[in-house]
Amino acid sequence: MNPASNSFVESADPTCRLNRHAFARRAMLRNGSLVLAATALTNKMLFSKEPESNSKAVRVGVITDLHYADKSPAGSRHYRETLGKLETASKQFAANQPDFVVELGDLIDAADSVDVEQGYLKTINRQFASICDDRHYVLGNHCVDTLSKDEFLGGVEQERSFYSFDREGIHFIVLDACFRGDGKSYGRRNFHWTDANVSAEELEWLRGDLKSNSKPTVVFAHQRLDVSNNHGVKNCVDVRKALEESGNVVAVFQGHSHQNDLNEIGGIHYCTMAAMVEGSGPESNGYSVMDIQPDGTIEIKGFVRQASYRWDA
Ligand SMILES: [Zn+2]
Repeated sequence: MNPASNSFVESADPTCRLNRHAFARRAMLRNGSLVLAATALTNKMLFSKEPESNSKAVRVGVITDLHYADKSPAGSRHYRETLGKLETASKQFAANQPDFVVELGDLIDAADSVDVEQGYLKTINRQFASICDDRHYVLGNHCVDTLSKDEFLGGVEQERSFYSFDREGIHFIVLDACFRGDGKSYGRRNFHWTDANVSAEELEWLRGDLKSNSKPTVVFAHQRLDVSNNHGVKNCVDVRKALEESGNVVAVFQGHSHQNDLNEIGGIHYCTMAAMVEGSGPESNGYSVMDIQPDGTIEIKGFVRQASYRWDA
């Protein structure tokens, strides 16, 4: 991807928090109800801000857990079939013309050697890259099983594993929970998949990024921030606290547990997407196109096994 398409520079505008509070006050007056804290804002309030004259809906193509590998199926995971499933998704995306595409992690599955795994990455990324120039990759545990983070990121030409960017009036954050409890990055089989954490440095960055932003915000993650079982991020309570305190986060999209799921915690939708690798044949595919309207409506059109949702502003 073109690195220039990402904004790695945080907005340092110190007036953002003030703007948000001023906006919150306006929202309270408009809604005629007393809200004591910015964190209590509803999505409706967040999005009832007058859209900028040139803002339009942002359209996002979403896929997750492709686990591409040139190896025989194992259980319900049909690694080679991902190529055909992605081809089908590509045709849908070509018709819908998303502004950008995001894959929510586990793009590849493990190989016995670094060279072979890099071959898997090259094959699947060549196909994914043909969909859209503006692409975003969330690191999954399987992306950095045999490979190091630098090797994976180099292979997909992405500068960082966690960062943020704006499209139209919406702020997007990509998170990386591929850190062990001791803060060390995953890579070269040095981790257990249940020990997923957002590192202290990243959490600090996240708090700062949210603080300097006043736009409605959507977060992309691989491991889940809404559960405390094996599929959950160990320090998800701290991450959720940061998201809730910002008062701007509308939704978190995540993968990892392979099945559709939706939880609402603290006014934020935590939506888990269906894995592309699961099951054989076109009837087992899963992908989606999401529209985020300036008025706050989020509509997810799910295809095949992927559920559809609509959250009105
Ligand atoms: Zn997976």
